[in-house]
Amino acid sequence: MSLEYYTCRNCGCENKLIDAHRNFLEEHGCSQPPFYCSICFSQRLGEIWEIPSEKRIAACSICGVETRLPFVPCLSRPVYCPQCFKIQNATNDEL
Ligand SMILES: [Zn+2]
Ligand SMILES: [Zn+2]
Repeated sequence: MSLEYYTCRNCGCENKLIDAHRNFLEEHGCSQPPFYCSICFSQRLGEIWEIPSEKRIAACSICGVETRLPFVPCLSRPVYCPQCFKIQNATNDEL
């Protein structure tokens, strides 16, 4: 991985990607650097949380039940309802 520096899409400043952040992105299967620097990101959080709630509802990949997410689901990633998420975490020890 060569994700080390990225340019903020809002203010254009160059930022170093800290290890914790990189690990977070990798854990979530994202290979792209963040769009925004931490300052712009926190400013835009207000907008992100105003996403209509119907866009944050996705069907669980396992049981198909509709679940409300605190984020907009990533299309390439499976979505789990809280119950299946617990089961997944319990059975995927070796991941
Ligand atoms: Zn910025
Ligand atoms: Zn489920």
